[in-house]
Amino acid sequence: MTFQIVTVPCLSDNYSYLAHDVASGATAVIDVPEPGPILRELAARDWKASHILLTHHHSDHVDGAEALAAATGAHVFGAAADAHRLPPLDHGVAPGDTVRIGMQQGQVIDVPGHTLGHIAYFFPEARALFTGDSLMVMGCGRLFEGTPAQMWDTLTRLMELPDSTRIFSGHEYAQTNARFALTLEPGNAALKSRAETIDHVRAAGGFTVPGTLGEERSTNPFLRAALPEMKSALGMQDASDLAVFTELRTRRNGFRG
Ligand code: ZN
Ligand code: FE
Repeated sequence: MTFQIVTVPCLSDNYSYLAHDVASGATAVIDVPEPGPILRELAARDWKASHILLTHHHSDHVDGAEALAAATGAHVFGAAADAHRLPPLDHGVAPGDTVRIGMQQGQVIDVPGHTLGHIAYFFPEARALFTGDSLMVMGCGRLFEGTPAQMWDTLTRLMELPDSTRIFSGHEYAQTNARFALTLEPGNAALKSRAETIDHVRAAGGFTVPGTLGEERSTNPFLRAALPEMKSALGMQDASDLAVFTELRTRRNGFRG
């Protein structure tokens, strides 16, 4: 039961994704920064969008949703809790709900922090997690609405997923995230080699998504807040995991790498 996933770059550094269930032909579009590139990619593959899955209400993730729905007839899914600030939804969903894309079953996961009402979509069989602006390649979203405790809880729950889970996030921020991570753990071999790989990928015009959760675990500073090596890198050996995560998020906000 193949779920074919295509990355569609949009705007300056956003990603949308097409997720195509080969058996049924159903195709989900995850986030719609703008309709143009998505419609072109659908046409090039002769796919028809049947579902639009929105992660959160920010304009760089939803602005093209209404136009794409009008052009394709796709049904729009998003957090019922945020229906008042999302484009018109055909299906309001809540954490714990299941979305079906043909034969593929996705779970709606609550991932507050960047915004409240932010959701992710996890397709266990395809090992695909669409995270929007929660967990990103070597980073996590800024805390616009949630508290550090909420984002730390979000990341802690995502870390329970299998290492082979592929992380499809909403932006291409990997190079800046890698430079930031290297300021903290210059001796982390996995981090150094991943940073090099990412530089090569970007130089060749490629995408750094998806990463795997296993890679994130060994290189993403925000997932490493509970580790003694990260705590001592920050001089916070005796601090709580949450205090370390909070310090990491604050430093990242001020990082101009
Ligand atoms: Zn956002
Ligand atoms: Fe965004």
